Amino acid sequence: MGQVVTIDGPAASGKTSVSRELAHRLGWSWVSTGAFYRGLGFAALSTGTVLDDENSLAKLATSEQWRVDMTSDKTRVFLGNKDVTEQILQEHVGSIASKISHFPKVREALLVAQRDCAHKSKGLVAEGRDCGTVVFPEALVKFYLTARQEDRAERRAKDLGLSVEETVKAQVQRDQQDSSRKAAPMKVPENAMVVDTTELNFQQVVDLVEQHVRKNLQKKKN
Ligand code: C5P
Repeated sequence: MGQVVTIDGPAASGKTSVSRELAHRLGWSWVSTGAFYRGLGFAALSTGTVLDDENSLAKLATSEQWRVDMTSDKTRVFLGNKDVTEQILQEHVGSIASKISHFPKVREALLVAQRDCAHKSKGLVAEGRDCGTVVFPEALVKFYLTARQEDRAERRAKDLGLSVEETVKAQVQRDQQDSSRKAAPMKVPENAMVVDTTELNFQQVVDLVEQHVRKNLQKKKN
């Protein structure tokens, strides 16, 4: 297994773009673990799986009906042969992902494939909600990215062409669900560096996290 860096945080905190750019700068692989929950939610909708049936969802989680592929710019999801990467980015799929992600059996079923991403890489940047706490507790460096609620909603609303008010509502509900669930709740991992991106631009955030990772890589070498 290669080195792992994790970036967790609430919805639209910039985790995806920051972690992807960090991976690019390090020459490492990158994965958005949210794609596993979104992909499963989408697969459940498409196959008519009942969204509160934990056992059926856990079974679907490891079925060959759908899969996740790492690429450098998108974590791709395929349902059969169909690429549904763009569809799973819709906010209602995010809400379904959040709804089904509180089931312990579902989380357990998705863990193996998430951890496998590190075995396929010399280095991996993984982003999500529990990457530093559960998926990769031994990660070399852990970050927790956050930003003011309104700023996050504005960012997401602009990306998806939605109203800011509606987006705030959906995000507050999703963050609340994600941080209050019993199984692997979203929280700051022990020893994580917390980065509030509210007053920083993209470049500044990536520079900051890159420096911190390189310092730790150097420390490990010595
Ligand atoms: O990060 P993204 O918005 O794609 O995540 C969608 C949902 O998937 C989250 O709201 C959360 O409920 C779930 N998720 C999770 N654990 C992760 C990543 C995502 O529970 N590591």
